[in-house]
Amino acid sequence: MSSVEPHRFADAPSTRTACITLDLENNWTFGGELEYLVFEHLDEFVGLVRRLDVPLSVFVVGKVLEDRPDVVRRLDAELDVEFHLHSYQHDMTGNVDIGRELRAGTRAFESVLGRDPAGYRAPRFILDKGDLATLSAMEFEFDSSVCPSYRPGVYNNLDAPHRPYYPAEAPDLLEIPVSVHPRLRVPMEQSYLRLFGDPYLKLLEHSRLPKTLVYNCHLHDFFHTAAHERLGRLKRLAFTRNIENSVAVFERFVSLLTEKGYRFRTLSELADDVRLREDERVVAGLS
Ligand SMILES: [Zn+2]
Repeated sequence: MSSVEPHRFADAPSTRTACITLDLENNWTFGGELEYLVFEHLDEFVGLVRRLDVPLSVFVVGKVLEDRPDVVRRLDAELDVEFHLHSYQHDMTGNVDIGRELRAGTRAFESVLGRDPAGYRAPRFILDKGDLATLSAMEFEFDSSVCPSYRPGVYNNLDAPHRPYYPAEAPDLLEIPVSVHPRLRVPMEQSYLRLFGDPYLKLLEHSRLPKTLVYNCHLHDFFHTAAHERLGRLKRLAFTRNIENSVAVFERFVSLLTEKGYRFRTLSELADDVRLREDERVVAGLS
């Protein structure tokens, strides 16, 4: 059984719903002064989201909560925002124990935000077999780590559903996948929108986009820092291409979604909506 195999599909809203998510994390694997350098652009990011007037669902790394609670508190105070957990240490090696990551991350989350996280996203969208069952056992309500795409050497989820579902290995946990372009399978992420720029935006204009659309971004997708210059050559090219147009292309993308009739919600609002519809179905005797 694959970790992303569905048990059943969720009763997602029939209207077009878009959720903008931000993974709030350190700059790749850098330490020292480069580790959180991108946070110097917080003013610009807050300004961007306020201008667009969209709610934001933030997946925050536990270490960021410990090291930079000021950043989390500022987003909380100035934006229509909710927070979820993005692991404790944002491990890139695959050699960490998920239970330990979740316990340490939840402790950090609770100490800054005063409650337990309801949602989780795995670093690099990598889920191992059993991770979703662990999340469910620890009473997470939803996960948003599955991206039905393919990244060579990182993950292959081409068989995973494109819309919210309950996974076979954790039938009580709602999985809200990160969206992809339905034909091209390009993840709905700012890194790709930035990379492919205006021609891709044009293509999106004429594409049938998913009814429930989950879009992800990072601060480093928008703002160029000295940390970008320290990446290896290929990564540096990929992460800096078109970065000076990144904010503008994101603004046009949000306008496009509005024109297509999307309503912007947080992931918790989406999850609540799904459960409410399912409860109503049960009460009405339809399932
Ligand atoms: Zn991440």
